[in-house]
Amino acid sequence: MTIRLADTHAHLDLPEIAPDRDAVLDRARTAGVELIINVGIGLENSRQALATARRYPGLRATIGVHPHGAAALKDGDLEALAPLAADPLVVAVGEIGLDFYRRRSPEETQKRWFRKQLEWAGALQKIVVIHTREATAATLKVLQEARAQLPGGVMHCFSGNWQEAQSFLDLGFYLSFAGPVTYPKAEALREVARKMPLDRILVETDCPYLPPQPWRGKRNEPAYVAATARQVAEVRGLSLEELARATWENSLRAFGLKEQDILKDM
Ligand SMILES: [Zn+2]
Ligand SMILES: [Zn+2]
Repeated sequence: MTIRLADTHAHLDLPEIAPDRDAVLDRARTAGVELIINVGIGLENSRQALATARRYPGLRATIGVHPHGAAALKDGDLEALAPLAADPLVVAVGEIGLDFYRRRSPEETQKRWFRKQLEWAGALQKIVVIHTREATAATLKVLQEARAQLPGGVMHCFSGNWQEAQSFLDLGFYLSFAGPVTYPKAEALREVARKMPLDRILVETDCPYLPPQPWRGKRNEPAYVAATARQVAEVRGLSLEELARATWENSLRAFGLKEQDILKDM
């Protein structure tokens, strides 16, 4: 049986990956990764994310500004991205959210632009890809206030406990697991992977960051999403094939994609 995987969160335009992206994407294909969501983190990077998605088969893009970049945003910046948002290859607004770990932008500035981008996603009727770090309660509160206007969302690189997972599941969001679910100390995260509904699980790499256990300390790339999928399959007592099929279907549903459109690219 062939395994078809989706990496729902990759950064293929960062300097760690861009120089050998052709080889990276060849290896992804060999590993069965047939869909990659190339995630924007800033104004210029969002333009690149779409340009790259146009260039290779099986790619889609998201556009948005990461909380690290919130402080540099000006009124009118989001409007300037409007032509990108109209492109059918752009499937979500993200990654957006709150990051109180590095705090590269002040909390209130992060919240302001997080809310603005949620509003924007609501107007576009696109789902949102959410980044949250050491800001779970604040992120949840903002999302609860915005939920009615959003078509849906993904908690990317989910790393919370079961109680936190339930709060985001209650919003109707998907939880996306990345490399950390394979780390020896990540028992609480594996508990989430075991207990949550199968039809809300996604897998991602967040490459070039956070490689699964065998590649820790190295650069991550989409091919490695298979190791994350294998770990999630194992804790649920499923085969890799079963978990891959479920997460493939979830990825299509989450991002509003049709399988035939992805496969005809190939
Ligand atoms: Zn992130
Ligand atoms: Zn990311």
